[in-house]
Amino acid sequence: MPNLLLVATGGTIAGSAADSADTSHYRAGALSAESLLAALPEAATLGQITAEQPFALDSKDMTPAHWLALAALLRERLAAPDVDGIVVTHGTDTLEETGFLLHLTLPRTKPIVLTAAMRPATARSADGPMNLLQAFACAGTHEAAAFGPLVVAGDRIWRARDCSKRHTHVPDALGGIDAGPVGVAIGTQIRFDHGGDGAAPYFAGTLPSELPRVDILSAYAGAPADQIDASVANGAAGVVLALAGHGSVPETWLPAIARAVARGVSVVRASRVASGGVMPQANFDDAAHGTLACGRLTPWQARVALMLALGMGVARNALQEALLRA
Ligand code: ASP
Repeated sequence: MPNLLLVATGGTIAGSAADSADTSHYRAGALSAESLLAALPEAATLGQITAEQPFALDSKDMTPAHWLALAALLRERLAAPDVDGIVVTHGTDTLEETGFLLHLTLPRTKPIVLTAAMRPATARSADGPMNLLQAFACAGTHEAAAFGPLVVAGDRIWRARDCSKRHTHVPDALGGIDAGPVGVAIGTQIRFDHGGDGAAPYFAGTLPSELPRVDILSAYAGAPADQIDASVANGAAGVVLALAGHGSVPETWLPAIARAVARGVSVVRASRVASGGVMPQANFDDAAHGTLACGRLTPWQARVALMLALGMGVARNALQEALLRA
């Protein structure tokens, strides 16, 4: 039997409501890791399970400081000889940000499986218990490690880098970003459609004690350019622009972008469109304007990658490469 560790951080999977028919008024992160396990005796058939609880958060309140603390904890636990696989419970709201940071920073030596739920643990047809059980089953398989962090929910398994929240309230809310699942869970049977690459994470080095401020600024009809100046004035080391289409920059933003670049702020073109990303030089002369393109990353992923790159001292002329390869 594998030794599996549950690292609980809160979320709706640990949510509690007064009314079992109410799926929108509840407290996320109300139930402890121990009570999640106590409600899931079947998990004992999948491994020897221990638990720890670094935070008990609604994931809307997750911060970069939490990311770094979680990544450091998981790196330490992955290195422990008595841990064979790790399950992380997390809120669905910002799971894609934490998942991407873990994808970029954790070694692919042992399974790391994130899971979540849309209905609180006290709800009728709560989705959390089965998701957690399937996450343990996945964390107990050898093949899982090579993918890097995975997300298991609703019988599907995605790489954490390919998974985002696609719906605000239905149980089947998580889905792929430009990529399908890498496998499925049928009960507690885990089947992968192909193998992972087992590659080292892009940011394998020592993590910084804090990450620099990077803001995401959205374009929309008539969006004011002064939001760029405000970010820079408030200390942002980078801004990710969630632009229309394939990274199209409004004419009225050009002077503010030039001012930011002149002050050494990293300006990344990304897109508010759900799929496709923004390639360098597409629709805009990045080389002439001193801007970067996010590649295939979403604005939220590009922000995580840029924060890590800047925080870990990646040289200015290597930032574009880091965004394309992260
Ligand atoms: N607000 C919750 C959270 O992200 C939502 C969820 O877990 O589904 O913590």
